[in-house]
Amino acid sequence: LFHWSIHLFLYTVRCLTMLGHFGFECLPHQLVNRSIQQGFSFNILCVGETGIGKSTLIDTLFNTNLKDKKSSHFYSNVGLKIQTYELQESNVQLKLTVVKTVGYGDQINKEASYQPVVDYVDAQFEAYLQEELKIKRSFIDYHDSRIHVCLYFISPTGHSLKSLDLLTMKNIDSKVNIVPLIAKADTISKNDLQKFKCKIMSELVSNGIQIYQFPTHDETTAQMSQSLNFYCGQLPFAVVGSMDEVKVGKRMVRGRQYPWGVLQGKCDESEQVCSGKCVCVNKLGFFCSFQEIYEAKRQKFYDQCQREEEELKQKFMQRVKEKETTFKESEKELQEKFEHLKRVQQEETMKLEEERRQLEEEIIDFYKMKAVSETLQTQVCTNIKKE
Ligand code: GDP
Repeated sequence: LFHWSIHLFLYTVRCLTMLGHFGFECLPHQLVNRSIQQGFSFNILCVGETGIGKSTLIDTLFNTNLKDKKSSHFYSNVGLKIQTYELQESNVQLKLTVVKTVGYGDQINKEASYQPVVDYVDAQFEAYLQEELKIKRSFIDYHDSRIHVCLYFISPTGHSLKSLDLLTMKNIDSKVNIVPLIAKADTISKNDLQKFKCKIMSELVSNGIQIYQFPTHDETTAQMSQSLNFYCGQLPFAVVGSMDEVKVGKRMVRGRQYPWGVLQGKCDESEQVCSGKCVCVNKLGFFCSFQEIYEAKRQKFYDQCQREEEELKQKFMQRVKEKETTFKESEKELQEKFEHLKRVQQEETMKLEEERRQLEEEIIDFYKMKAVSETLQTQVCTNIKKE
């Protein structure tokens, strides 16, 4: 829902720590890639009095300069201004439809002021239903104009909600996601703002008005969503919009310049700017640009891949080392076995050699004895003959 918002110039309580990114960056990598290819379509309904800062906030959110003509306070009826913009930031395409109330709260009789809003919301549901009922539906080309979010701008009176606010919200809360905003929140002091928020929330609860609940089923965003849903805490969001570019350090940024400092919308808390007499506005604009988030997600994925690769390398090296040690031990064992066998064989050879030598000596002795006996035999024979 709000995840689409780019460069939101929004804060709830001054000097809070930044909660980090959520939404787009929490989507799975493949889903992000597919969404980037297909482009996004987002329909916002802005309901609020004339001059409350609707156009300025949209420009601040999407970092655009949509040059909207200032509305008059003299319309006899409430109307709606529908504008569709094709926005592109790097490779992210966004078809943005902004529906703004015109003349809201300007009539003396405000009883039916909510009706055009309700009619418009219903008409978009009807159009979608008609498309769905067609035998041959073509949702690929169909521009789904159903409202994704209704930003309800509350006047920064610091007092309470007006009956028109309650009446309108009551009539649309079952049809759209209402995100209540305290407009021009820079005009209220910190204490008043906190009290005003609590008062608004208690009025919404006592009148049974349902506002958008940030989803808590996704564990990556659950904690943040819970803190956003927490009544008397962050809601309704206090917002500040600006079309002005002010110089902060060496850079030009969107912000509001005051005698005591600059109010600047930023993504990175570490870069919060205090200037002049120092108005430190933490947690302003916690929605980064799509591209930044996409790049951050890519970088995170890349880092994870690198980490996993490194881990695999380490594991592989470990296994190689283990195998090497096992091989070395086996080699040592074999070597010892070989040495032992060699020794045994040498001893055997020496023994055999000794036996052979003894046998040879015996043979020689035998031949000697044979020769002596033959000589003796010959002598005996000769002696016998002589006789
Ligand atoms: P819209 O009729 O609701 O669309 O109101 P605009 O966006 O045209 O704003 C009306 C005037 O309010 C302009 O002069 C803006 O500069 C001023 N404005 C818008 N947002 C803020 C804000 O957050 N704070 C302050 N102080 N002024 C704002």
